[in-house]
Amino acid sequence: MIHNFNAGPSILPKEVFEEASRAILNFNETGLSILEFGHRTPMFESVVSEAMDLVRELMQLDGNKEVMFLHGGASTQFFQVPMNFLSKDKTAAYLDGGVWGSKAIKEAKLFGNVEVVASSKDRNYSYIPTGYTLPDNAAYFHYTTNNTIEGTQMQGIPSSSVPLIADMSSDILSCGMDFNRFSFIYAGAQKNIGAAGVNLVVADKDFLATGNTAIPSMMDYRQHVANGSMLNTPPVFAIYVCLLTLRWLKKIGGIPAIEKINEQKADLLYSTLASLPMFNLPVPAQDRSKMNAVFTMHDPALEKLFLTRCEEEGMVGIKGHRSVGGFRVSMYNAMPLSSVVDITDLIKDFANKHA
Ligand code: PMP
Repeated sequence: MIHNFNAGPSILPKEVFEEASRAILNFNETGLSILEFGHRTPMFESVVSEAMDLVRELMQLDGNKEVMFLHGGASTQFFQVPMNFLSKDKTAAYLDGGVWGSKAIKEAKLFGNVEVVASSKDRNYSYIPTGYTLPDNAAYFHYTTNNTIEGTQMQGIPSSSVPLIADMSSDILSCGMDFNRFSFIYAGAQKNIGAAGVNLVVADKDFLATGNTAIPSMMDYRQHVANGSMLNTPPVFAIYVCLLTLRWLKKIGGIPAIEKINEQKADLLYSTLASLPMFNLPVPAQDRSKMNAVFTMHDPALEKLFLTRCEEEGMVGIKGHRSVGGFRVSMYNAMPLSSVVDITDLIKDFANKHA
């Protein structure tokens, strides 16, 4: 059996893969593949509208929010956000909490002034910075809710009158929060929502109205809203996989149900690692991500042995990102508790044998 701990693209529910593969051959008994009919057909329009409705329902969005499915992955949002909401005469506040956030900062600087309010770069982004104040006049405050590479996660939402913009690529739909507090949310789909190639965007209508207009149509959120995310040919299959994953999440009880499971998985893995002196957890307990658990071993020679043992037992995708080293066990929504039980059993057994 394969346990897929990849950081993204990553595990999705088995029933999503099954249903998606059926739709490639015969979508909803139409005799057509999901890949071969027009996006401006009732068949595909119903896919998009049901997916948008499910996002609204699962995230409990108020009536002032727009939902979009856009091309380009989260990296496109790094520049599309400032292209819409920043200009040379404005300042945006950014939290430099990880590699992905620092990439967003780099792109924003092309469009206007950027004030980095705090950074954890001094310790390789191994903690969530605190104790900063946001400039009142900032156009917006951008931060990453979960730092996928470094295994840190923000707890709670900063209280501020500055419009909040969050990159939620690696923890969206994994835990409850008041999503309506954000002016703008984006997330690449390939972790908790569906297949790579599409972004989920949730934006406040009033905030959208403040955006720049002298920008290319494909970059302009308002035009995407006006066209129901079909300004051009959308990534049809990727959106369909999102629909299937959203249906699955609703069926199992939505965010409250998955949050409980995610907590169980993270508690089990972190408490096991913390109890074994062989392992090192670089992130302080209060900042640890429930999606991506990062750990190293004090003895680098043992790291090799551990990786080989994991591979032999079908635990894939646990090698840490090259900037952090060690290991990263990603436990997105679709990861069953049983796989985390299996890897913690392996960890305990490995520690016994090599103590
Ligand atoms: N932000 C975060 C938090 C991510 O984890 C990633 C990808 N792993 C990205 C942005 C970039 O996403 P994409 O590859 O879809 O551009």
